[in-house]
Amino acid sequence: MNSPEILDPALHTLRHTFGYPAFRGEQAAIVGHVQGGGDALVLMPTGGGKSLCYQIPSLLREGCGIVVSPLIALMQDQVQALCQLGVRAAFLNSTLEAAEASAIERRLLAGELDLLYVAPERLLNPRCQGLIESSRIALFAIDEAHCVSQWGHDFRPEYRQLTILHERFPNIPRIALTATADAATRAEIIERLALEEARVFVSSFDRPNIRYTVVEKDNPRKQLLKFIRTHHEGDAGIVYCLSRKKVEETATWLRTEGISALPYHAGLDAAVRADHQTRFVRGDGIVMVATVAFGMGIDKPDVRFVAHLDLPKSLEAYYQETGRAGRDGLPSNAWMAYGLQDMVLQREMIEQSQAPDEVKRVERRKLEALLGYSEAPACRREVLLRYFGEESTPCGNCDMCITPPETFDASLPAQQALSTIYRSGQRYGAAHIIDILMGKSVAKITERGHDKLSTFGIGKALPEAQWNSLLRQFVAQGLLGVNEFGGLMLLDACRPVLRGEATFMAKRVRAAAPKAAASVRR
Ligand code: ADP
Ligand code: ZN
Repeated sequence: MNSPEILDPALHTLRHTFGYPAFRGEQAAIVGHVQGGGDALVLMPTGGGKSLCYQIPSLLREGCGIVVSPLIALMQDQVQALCQLGVRAAFLNSTLEAAEASAIERRLLAGELDLLYVAPERLLNPRCQGLIESSRIALFAIDEAHCVSQWGHDFRPEYRQLTILHERFPNIPRIALTATADAATRAEIIERLALEEARVFVSSFDRPNIRYTVVEKDNPRKQLLKFIRTHHEGDAGIVYCLSRKKVEETATWLRTEGISALPYHAGLDAAVRADHQTRFVRGDGIVMVATVAFGMGIDKPDVRFVAHLDLPKSLEAYYQETGRAGRDGLPSNAWMAYGLQDMVLQREMIEQSQAPDEVKRVERRKLEALLGYSEAPACRREVLLRYFGEESTPCGNCDMCITPPETFDASLPAQQALSTIYRSGQRYGAAHIIDILMGKSVAKITERGHDKLSTFGIGKALPEAQWNSLLRQFVAQGLLGVNEFGGLMLLDACRPVLRGEATFMAKRVRAAAPKAAASVRR
């Protein structure tokens, strides 16, 4: 039989060492290019199969492949998995005893390693550089390459110094890999890692089996419970919350509702964390309620849903977190509940952080993109993919495509709201502004004389939920800003609307859903 693998050592290795029948997507092209000594920049979504892109060339080329990875936990898992496949793999990081480390160094020098995972700070030290000089090196793989960029969400200063690899070892091919990089980040990776000559491989970021849904936060716990009971009874899923406290509370509450939920956050004991993680990965139908500390390097194919009870800080983060659902390709849900308060909170976190102004500017821009995703009356997937530089058409598998929102001319309500904000001094939050519009004579209003404003009670024609939604849409579209105390203020972009020179088309809030059947069950 003329088997193609006889002609193709990469395919042979894929099948006989890793046990997979075929390459996926761009893998074959990338492996071929790097095996032949070329540099590469690989953009592939999480779960796309980046590891094989450097593991197979490392096995096929003479010498040892050096993998730079910032995630120590991930290193250990990968090395363990490789050793089980019979690959001679090891790692060097701060968790090793001196004797263990020198044993590994000796194996590298003796040419007894196929793959060596190294933490970036370790790789940069002179001792390690000398070691590399004296060994045969097949390639350098720079994993999580976006860490080199200050535009990325995970900047690591050590990554900046990795250009030293190119300077000292110009003949050793380098492959940089990342799952998250918008155009600016991509350009910066190329510049910082001196990858101008590298071939760029971009895979589609589309995850067609994930259905995206964003709901307006009303009673988030109840909404979450209803979502789980309606779509995911007994399924494994992840629920992301911003704070440790909320993680604990939500997990406890879900358990009282009969859902097998476990908490996960960095404040828990390492042993408890490991236990919960193992139960999630091995067990059936565990719902992990977690902060973003959970998820990196978790390889569980059948996570059926990822729910966000709080807004993530960027679209990259959102994409990465939701990308943990449905790696097996089966239908899965990415569900998020958010409200104006979430925007305000995220803004506050940016403004109050100690980060330099330049970083804050980037964070604001990233948050805006996320708000745009949450509020745009357009296909979620289109918005998401466009952010990663990919054009697409309405997907038919997101809430916007399935139930298109009704829009209406909200120019008049917009003027009413904007002038209320202006007249009350641009320092009150949404709740207060809405109370004025609805004409509520509560103490906070009368004490400040806001019942005397000409706009007091002018907005009674619209339901409160619609006002909430409108204010969010104004913020998302840059008509309104939020100060660090949650006060709404006018931005330049609102002027044409305020003057009646531009129309503002808005999403109409959906009528309240009929009472959930959830309360009847169990
Ligand atoms: P990434 O680093 O891009 O997130 P991984 O390299 O961890 O992805 O791969 C994700 C999962 O897909 C792993 O379980 C891996 O074994 C599997 N995988 C990768 N390539 C293939 C392939 N060609 N065929 C089958 N499974 C694959
Ligand atoms: Zn869609």
